[in-house]
Amino acid sequence: MSEPNKTRVLAVSNQKGGVGKTTTAINLGTALAAIGERVLIVDMDPQGNASTGLGVPRETRRITIYDVVVDGRSVDEAAVPTTVPGLDIIPADADMSGVEIELSQADRRSFRLRDALAAQGAGGHTRYDYVLIDCPPSLNLLTLNAMAAADAVLVPLQCEFFALEGLTQLMKTVDMVRQSLNPALEIQGLVLTMYDRRNALSGQVAADVRAHFGDKVYDSVIPRNVRVSEAPSFGKPVLIYDLKCSGSQAYLKLAREVVARERQRRLIAA
Ligand code: ADP
Ligand code: MG
Repeated sequence: MSEPNKTRVLAVSNQKGGVGKTTTAINLGTALAAIGERVLIVDMDPQGNASTGLGVPRETRRITIYDVVVDGRSVDEAAVPTTVPGLDIIPADADMSGVEIELSQADRRSFRLRDALAAQGAGGHTRYDYVLIDCPPSLNLLTLNAMAAADAVLVPLQCEFFALEGLTQLMKTVDMVRQSLNPALEIQGLVLTMYDRRNALSGQVAADVRAHFGDKVYDSVIPRNVRVSEAPSFGKPVLIYDLKCSGSQAYLKLAREVVARERQRRLIAA
């Protein structure tokens, strides 16, 4: 049976830092909202970059993902609207660094986010079509909570020499999670980020990744674009900061592709 109202939970993950996870969570989230999807971003990184990039100042982060995961606060209590209509965020704060210790004796400690999201959607009254979880780069309890809660992993890959190495790491983690916490975890897709068409290496990495992963790699490629890197310092997604720039247009294209593939997946599963 297809489940038209079911929320699709995607963990934006890659164990390498600086590959475009947060940028993709913010801007894919914004682009999905722009084409009419209801989106929640869960900021799982103690650095709180997704929260800052979406203009949620630290002093207004009253209930954070920490309170959800550690204290059992609800998703509805923690989610705050952003300036983008249709896009909410559960913010993060540095206090998340204590989560490992706080939860060391806790029940279902790897399933805290999954349980919170499930409670939100109980009775079919889910408020979101997509939940994007912005994961930290390390493999810790927060990442495990993200992967246990996710239907699938969406992997940003920076077009540079060590891209495939980081990917091998991530695939091992996904296998481990499938064997223990979440047997149904899928790979949603891989998205090439910071692509520089003047750089031969970018093209080579893109070709290698496509050869390895075939149609798991999105056709949309996110170019390296200075507007994308400027936008967070204004607390805005690049689509709001400069809709016409190549980065914004690429994220819009990616959002359409994600939605089209998702419809196709549901048709096949029906
Ligand atoms: P991660 O969350 O994986 O650590 P980020 O999304 O924070 O990675 O990106 C790392 C850095 O690269 C940030 O400074 C970000 O602004 C920059 N960046 C990300 N994507 C692009 C892009 N398409 N063009 C230019 N700069 C980018
Ligand atoms: Mg990040």
